[in-house]
Amino acid sequence: MSQEMLNDQLKEVITDLKKKKNYYIITHNYVATDVQEISDYVGDSLQMALNATRCGKDRILVCSIRIMGESAKLLNPDKKVFMAHPTADCQLANLKNVEELKALKQRHPQAEVVCYVNASAALRAESTLTCTSANCLQIIDALPKDAEIIFIPDSNIGKWVEYKTGRKLLMFDSYCYVHHQISLEEALATKAQYPEYKLLVHPECGLEVCKIADKVCSTSQMIAFASENDNVILGTETGLYEQLHKRYPAKKLVPLSSRMVCEDMKKINLERVAAALMQEKYEVTLAADMAERTLHSLRRMWDILK
Ligand code: SF4
Repeated sequence: MSQEMLNDQLKEVITDLKKKKNYYIITHNYVATDVQEISDYVGDSLQMALNATRCGKDRILVCSIRIMGESAKLLNPDKKVFMAHPTADCQLANLKNVEELKALKQRHPQAEVVCYVNASAALRAESTLTCTSANCLQIIDALPKDAEIIFIPDSNIGKWVEYKTGRKLLMFDSYCYVHHQISLEEALATKAQYPEYKLLVHPECGLEVCKIADKVCSTSQMIAFASENDNVILGTETGLYEQLHKRYPAKKLVPLSSRMVCEDMKKINLERVAAALMQEKYEVTLAADMAERTLHSLRRMWDILK
């Protein structure tokens, strides 16, 4: 049987199971497009969790990494939340453990701890404020000018924030390998190859790459930009390029680098989704105390954005 026929069969099985078991499937932009196609919603981490709150189903399947399953559970405490893959996880979120953060907090007891949403619930529970890649500048700008700020876990986003806001942040040296691997030379070479194109990069890229971009933005902002513009270089994980290329086949879109592949996001495929719906093995749970502290940090972000 060809892969295409097998995929069609798997899609039928998934659609059937989803209906029978009353599931809502949420999938991240970086996951393979055939999984995106059988999903009820595709977006970035916080959007996925928020969208599921309005789904009217009692079960959620998360086609993404573990920390995004935690976000889904956090905002959907009354629903059963399952992961499509047991070991898909964000290597960035795991770079620094909670003990290291606690030690830094002890040395800076007055510091505001701002945590990028791509982090484990355990890390986020130790933070005082959450931010996303779309609102990180606004969140830091909203803090008092003399505030001491710890920024976790992505130091590339932190450096971009420092550069744009002029603030000094206390950070760990940790980053997303998918974005960090792109050198200034590689970005300049792609720009030179496509001189008419606008370069959009995610702030998880290194500062030197961000500085030469036409726009530094989140995946959602990249999707919005590509829907209204042509000739775009997408500086993020290649799943976003594949999604947009499928949606807008006539548009001239290129990935900044074909090497920008997140191994963990790519662990999720149709076989995994079908098995997860059948077996319901990888349920996400969150301790009540941790959930409350993580929510507090998230609510403060929403208060600032009001
Ligand atoms: S792309 Fe980077 S930040 Fe996103 S899940 Fe993969 S390792 Fe984590």
